[in-house]
Amino acid sequence: MKFNTKTIHAGQKPDETAGAVMPPVYFTSTYVQSAPNQHKGYDYARVGNPTRTALEKLIAGLEEADECACFSSGVGAIDAILKTLTPGDHVISTNDLYGGTYRLFTQVFEKYGIEFSFVDMSDINKIENSVQANTKLIWIETPTNPLLRIIDIKAAAEIAGKAGALSVVDNTFASPYLQQPLLLGADVVMHSTTKYLGGHSDVIGGAIASSNANFMEKIKFQVKTTGAVPGPMDCYLVLRGIKTLAVRVERSVENAKIIAKHLNVHPSVGHVFYPGLLSHPQHDLAGKQMSDYGAMLSFELKDSTFEDSAEFMQKTKIFALAESLGGVESLISHPASMTHGSIPKDVREQAGLKDTLIRLSVGIEDVNDLINDLEQAFEK
Ligand SMILES: *Cc1c(COP(=O)(O)O)cnc(C)c1O
Repeated sequence: MKFNTKTIHAGQKPDETAGAVMPPVYFTSTYVQSAPNQHKGYDYARVGNPTRTALEKLIAGLEEADECACFSSGVGAIDAILKTLTPGDHVISTNDLYGGTYRLFTQVFEKYGIEFSFVDMSDINKIENSVQANTKLIWIETPTNPLLRIIDIKAAAEIAGKAGALSVVDNTFASPYLQQPLLLGADVVMHSTTKYLGGHSDVIGGAIASSNANFMEKIKFQVKTTGAVPGPMDCYLVLRGIKTLAVRVERSVENAKIIAKHLNVHPSVGHVFYPGLLSHPQHDLAGKQMSDYGAMLSFELKDSTFEDSAEFMQKTKIFALAESLGGVESLISHPASMTHGSIPKDVREQAGLKDTLIRLSVGIEDVNDLINDLEQAFEK
């Protein structure tokens, strides 16, 4: 089955009761048993729910994974992955990553004795040089957020393999439509399904997919034991969103490319961060490991202050000033104070994230309206 068919059919079959084409939403907390521990595969809804199973099979199909486990949020999924480690274990992570992931790593797991090295993983040597005897996980987020750097998944996964560590890719920014990390050698892929998979800014969710049976056993133990599970309606919303993933992402990327080119030659714009631009330092690598360049981009206004960027963001009318990304609607945001506000200013600036940076999540609206919206915001 090709990808665009899988988004609709992978792991799905009509409901056996009534032949419903879409999976029923099973609102139940428990399941009747014919004798103690005799049941139809479900005993309690923290452990499993058929609507959740339908979503898990769909995401596993898209990521070419044997198994998938869904969570009530992206950070819930990340939390479950980190809980497979033990105190004294070491994690290598990119220094340009989602602020919530950074907060979870440094403010929760460091306290429990997990060690972290945050390095510029777009430089593969820096990953190699950070490997220690106790390195158990290499955390890859690519394209990075918000600077759109590209990390070589294949090379990073090879380093992890040699070190006896697992490689995990947060594939939220690209979505499986553009990038399939397991096919590049990664062990595990993780999603905030809140973003492109859900696609309509109406649900919070997370997912982990892998073909490493031993690892997935540990994740399913976390599902059952620590319980950050999604409700059936949330699973349904994500499943419904995925059906249109291919057409949504295709249009968003088409729009983003036009906007990136427009901004790149704009007299009021300084640097544009977008892997689809020839000037992007890893344009070739992006072209190799992604099927297209994505719909996220960041830019700086020329000679700007924080106040100039803040003013710009308040002037756009179609681009809504909001956190999050990957929905059908276009959003504009200020990473330094919003998504990455929990990263200390000196750490942010060391990683190249300036207080003037503006991030766009390009949606599927008419691109002329989007460009006109940005143009009216440029006017003084
Ligand atoms: C949003 C996001 C997360 C966290 O997911 P939630 O669903 O908000 O908990 C993790 N990684 C990336 C790259 C994200 O954009």
